[in-house]
Amino acid sequence: MVAALGIPEHEVAEKYWNITGATVQMKTVDGHCVFYRDGCSVYEGRPWRCRQWPLVPALLDDESNFIIIGNSCPGINRHVSYQEFRKILAGLKRR
Ligand code: SF4
Repeated sequence: MVAALGIPEHEVAEKYWNITGATVQMKTVDGHCVFYRDGCSVYEGRPWRCRQWPLVPALLDDESNFIIIGNSCPGINRHVSYQEFRKILAGLKRR
């Protein structure tokens, strides 16, 4: 992200990050990520967690997360059951 934005890390941190202990989250504007403008405005430098989307560990831990994310993310095939999704994702993780 620092390289993509072309500004020093301390400036990126000050302008765009909320840091709590070891956790870094993007600041928000109007309830969404500060970088969201009709898509990700820092796509090439987006954080690792964003690169994982929608294959986030929370989907493997709790079926209700699968349902919630599935309802908000067009990238998730809603015709695949939770059990099938877990099997597919586990297969991908082994590669
Ligand atoms: S992909 Fe990540 S960094 Fe980009 S707008 Fe979405 S939450 Fe923000």
